[in-house]
Amino acid sequence: MAMMVHNLFLKIINKEIPAKIAHEDDLCLAFHDINPQAPVHVLIIPKKVIRTHADLTPDDAAVMGHIHLVAVQLAKDLGLSAGYRLVLNCDEQAGQTVPHLHLHLLGGRDLGWPPG
Ligand code: 5GP
Repeated sequence: MAMMVHNLFLKIINKEIPAKIAHEDDLCLAFHDINPQAPVHVLIIPKKVIRTHADLTPDDAAVMGHIHLVAVQLAKDLGLSAGYRLVLNCDEQAGQTVPHLHLHLLGGRDLGWPPG
């Protein structure tokens, strides 16, 4: 079972550690995964600290909608016209390792199903 580590994504938001940024606006940041699982593997995160999907409240509806619209735009910009997959791992059993909600945008190859 994966170990939850400290919130290093907050350090990426605050530019305390570097990342290859794909998109940034007031509500969210998108950056390329350091260990890509597909030719395109971008993480889209709210700037607001939300530990995990299960912690979402009605106040988060706008930012969650927003990160999906950013995913649509990035998929276009990054050439994923053949398709893409969005993954959001919630808590340890699903493999979440960073305690800051993040949407994985994966594409550029055939993606198997079911996932591991
Ligand atoms: P999770 O397993 O929590 O759903 O996804 C965390 C993701 O963050 C993993 O795909 C992992 O490769 C990525 N990651 C971990 N540390 C860093 C880092 O310092 N920089 C970047 N760009 N990605 C990271």
